[in-house]
Amino acid sequence: MADWHTTIRERDFPMLEQAECDGRALIYLDNAATTQCARPVQWALESYWRSQHANVYRGAYCLSRRAGEAVEEVRQLCAEFLGAGSGNEIIFTAGATASANLLADAFALTELRPGDLVLATEMEHHSNLLPWREACRRTGAELALAPVTGEGELDLEALDRLLERRPKLLAVTAVSNVLGTITPLEEIVSRAHRVGCAVAVDAAQAMRCALPGVDVLDCDFLYFSAHKIMGPTGVGVLYGKRAWLEKLTPPRTGGGMVRALPGMEPEYEDVPLKFEAGTLDLAGVAGLGAALEYLHAVGRRRIAAREQALLRYTEKKLRELPGLRVLGSPRRRAGCVSFTAEPLQPLDVAMLLDSQGIAVRSGSHCAIPLHARLGLSGSVRVSPAFYNTAEEIDILAAALARVLDSARKGGVLKDKANG
Ligand code: PLP
Repeated sequence: MADWHTTIRERDFPMLEQAECDGRALIYLDNAATTQCARPVQWALESYWRSQHANVYRGAYCLSRRAGEAVEEVRQLCAEFLGAGSGNEIIFTAGATASANLLADAFALTELRPGDLVLATEMEHHSNLLPWREACRRTGAELALAPVTGEGELDLEALDRLLERRPKLLAVTAVSNVLGTITPLEEIVSRAHRVGCAVAVDAAQAMRCALPGVDVLDCDFLYFSAHKIMGPTGVGVLYGKRAWLEKLTPPRTGGGMVRALPGMEPEYEDVPLKFEAGTLDLAGVAGLGAALEYLHAVGRRRIAAREQALLRYTEKKLRELPGLRVLGSPRRRAGCVSFTAEPLQPLDVAMLLDSQGIAVRSGSHCAIPLHARLGLSGSVRVSPAFYNTAEEIDILAAALARVLDSARKGGVLKDKANG
């Protein structure tokens, strides 16, 4: 009998079997950038457009009422998925980047004053860094980065020293999109809360790795995108503790978020609607709901365990290749493993792999400060998902061995041990 993941791959991701790029079969190992959309999610999107489309909240008619109920059902589903207290703590956005921007803007408006301190870490994706930089720039607050150790862990002692300065907020990733480091969130949140510092968690890379619920993490905010959990692009979530959401001023204004406008002074709707100005991506929300149901049906723990096993195997195979340097050796890794093969450029490695049908990512992965910390301008990233196979990793390793071998023969690479 076929393994569950083989069955699921064939049934729900036929594109992985059928796709070909430039006449070659595709080996898709760029899941940290985006995952393939599961067929049940595609059906949900199709069904939405076929028979459910209407604008929400504003209609007295049946179709609009139903559309509104469907959005609220997905909100509830998200709350359950995240371990949130209620759907009121779930704001729909255009994705993790939009969530971070919305939160940073609201925080700047409501909380930040000149001289305040905001912390992020050296391993943040630009999406969890630049919105905070902008918020600080606008308000005269300072942004400081907690450093990362040579192994690729967050330096907790250095973080403690920064926390002594009583920052207002710490923006931290749950999983690094370059090193795959799983950050010790419970520990980080408890240290931050001891000095009254709020914590915003970027969970963009963490939703397939059995992240504890927000009720366990006790973080104040958390965000993610649907397209990294087999859902559609253009939709995501900002979770916030209710007390925080009630306190924060909405930075975006428009339709659907005010209940009255006496003398042009808006009276905002309750949370979460006060943060959802304008019409949502309603099909996207339907797709997000289908993606959450899909993960639940396949089994979140099963997915996480399978991805862990594949990632360990990938790292082992990469470390066996002479001339290739795997970045970081964090205690707990999820999602991806990155490497360099100097003096080959990451882009050249990725293009040579592409010529053999293998899709990996090269560049800074929107994490320039982290690469700078590692003395690099870029790397090659391999990110398997549960629908990938060990055979695909073997093909990747063999292709890389050929790339390294021909580079060595061409005199480009010295035959050095794996760093
Ligand atoms: N944060 C991390 C850690 C990411 O890896 C990404 C995307 O790769 C983002 C945020 C941004 O996600 P999106 O582009 O879906 O907004």
